[in-house]
Amino acid sequence: MAHDPDCIFCKIIDGDIPSFKVFEDEKTLTFMDISPVNPGHVLVIPKYHAPDLMQIPTDWLMATVATAQTVAQAVDKALKPDGINILQSNGPAAGQSVFHLHVHIIPRTAGDKLAFDWGIAPGDMDAIGAVAERIRASVV
Ligand code: 5GP
Ligand code: ZN
Repeated sequence: MAHDPDCIFCKIIDGDIPSFKVFEDEKTLTFMDISPVNPGHVLVIPKYHAPDLMQIPTDWLMATVATAQTVAQAVDKALKPDGINILQSNGPAAGQSVFHLHVHIIPRTAGDKLAFDWGIAPGDMDAIGAVAERIRASVV
């Protein structure tokens, strides 16, 4: 399984960096974004180090997309947002800052005027942990 010891998301997979995990299976891990743009912002990653969508083997991508659906259903059930964005960036010019493929799941509220400027400052860890528990309990 591809792994990069210097990658922050590989370190989260290994448990070397803490995270609020909400779902895990053989090929994927889902955890709360450390700088949520909205409450309930989660990241889905493959347990396979590939920098982006173009470079990941298709079976790992399919596993990641399937988990994104499972977790989006949990977010929808737990938080009842008005909408959900699924977003995935490839390359710095596209806004990618962590080079281990990841899918953002972002709950939306009508009129929230969200600008995609995440990664600026860490969020409130108590609030992030509390919403992680609600989503975790809604995974079916
Ligand atoms: P990108 O801009 O690459 O699409 O998104 C990277 C995301 O990873 C950002 O939303 C950022 O907040 C998140 N992130 C970066 N470092 C960490 C970390 O150590 N832990 C967690 N949970 N999220 C992180
Ligand atoms: Zn990695």
